[in-house]
Amino acid sequence: LSSLLVHSGTLVCMDPAGTIARGDLLACDGRIVALGAGVPAALAALPGGRADLAFDASGAFVLPGFVQAHLHLCQVLFRGLAEQTDLLRWLRERIWPLEAAHSEASIAASARLGLVESLAAGVTCVNDMGTVRHTDAIGAVLEESGVRAVFGKALMDQGEGVPAGLLESPRAALDEAASLARRWHGAAGGRLRSSVAPRFILSCSDGLWREATALSAERGLLLHTHLSESPSEGRAVEAAVGRTATRAFAARGVLGERFVGAHGVWLDDEELGLLAEAGAALVHCPGANLKLGSGLAQVRRWKDHGLRAGLGSDGAPCNNRLDPFHEMSLAAGLSRALHPERPLTAAEVLALATTEGARALGWADEIGSLEVGKSADLAVVDHGAPHHGPEPLADPCTTLVHTGRADDVRLTVVAGRVLYRDGAWATLDADRVLGEAAMERAGALRRAESHGMRR
Ligand SMILES: [Zn+2]
Repeated sequence: LSSLLVHSGTLVCMDPAGTIARGDLLACDGRIVALGAGVPAALAALPGGRADLAFDASGAFVLPGFVQAHLHLCQVLFRGLAEQTDLLRWLRERIWPLEAAHSEASIAASARLGLVESLAAGVTCVNDMGTVRHTDAIGAVLEESGVRAVFGKALMDQGEGVPAGLLESPRAALDEAASLARRWHGAAGGRLRSSVAPRFILSCSDGLWREATALSAERGLLLHTHLSESPSEGRAVEAAVGRTATRAFAARGVLGERFVGAHGVWLDDEELGLLAEAGAALVHCPGANLKLGSGLAQVRRWKDHGLRAGLGSDGAPCNNRLDPFHEMSLAAGLSRALHPERPLTAAEVLALATTEGARALGWADEIGSLEVGKSADLAVVDHGAPHHGPEPLADPCTTLVHTGRADDVRLTVVAGRVLYRDGAWATLDADRVLGEAAMERAGALRRAESHGMRR
């Protein structure tokens, strides 16, 4: 389809002016060509005076699709398999052995299931950390799904409790990251991008960090990692490198505009200053932080320092849902508890999940807001159900952040292409995906025993 009209909805544009208005949106060849008052003239100029596809969005919000700024599609298969534990045990006893047990088929099944869930929740862009192996299989699923994505392979050449199946030589890790970038960066018409993803400070040797940073700079790739997530992790980092991760990264020249650090729970003002000075971005993952008991990130302080920031669900085993509405509601409530004088507003929280998330990933020139010229990446969210009543339009941002649910999403569009509509996925067969995931999960669990998984 070359043209799509989404009409009669309430546009929540997330543009610099904060436009919220009743109106229509017209996309042609993947881009937004007209909004509101400009639509009739643009429609009249189309062959036959009408769009190829029209979607009636009355009783619904039309907004930029959600940016899932930190995600592990490879872990979706392991939902429910790593409960009641903190970060480092969660990794060593469960998640790493399970990741080591992945085959190409099991990782593809995991990614498909995560994308079925994400597309139905209005997510149009994901930033995926991946795991050490089978990254091409994730790339193939991202391509087939139609979603927009930045993805990389997790780099790991050292670390306590890491199964042998996840450890690589720094050379092998870097060579594969570079070759993935050659294959995938800019693929699918620019919809896919490659990142460099050193897992976290203790997973990589100094040499690997140096080369990973150089590769990111040389190729203009995001440097996606985990940063200051939990207290026990912080103690392990201090013991290993004699200072915090942020200070170590600053000293080694790792921080920069392409740096995207997930979590950032335990950062003092000096560290936030170092990140801001470098132009780095952080990703708030409140659901995962609460479930693993890691702590409460102070996003108001991030913003005081001028940091770019997005919102992420992290992995299905540490959340356990991949639902931007859940994260928005938590982000808003936590901010009120942490900063009662200056909590994030509903509009600021919605921005984290959309336009600010796009900025954090360096993609704001293309996505994150509904503006003429940008890619038509959008979600239509119904507000007609009783749980939104009686007056959902009184404050649309509040309605979306505090009462919206993933199952209110009616339409998800990436680059003008409808990927999800009223319970049906265009590119993925949800029933089949769920069946395959159950089968592959069983196989991965069996194999994980030999990679040191503790039951
Ligand atoms: Zn993560």
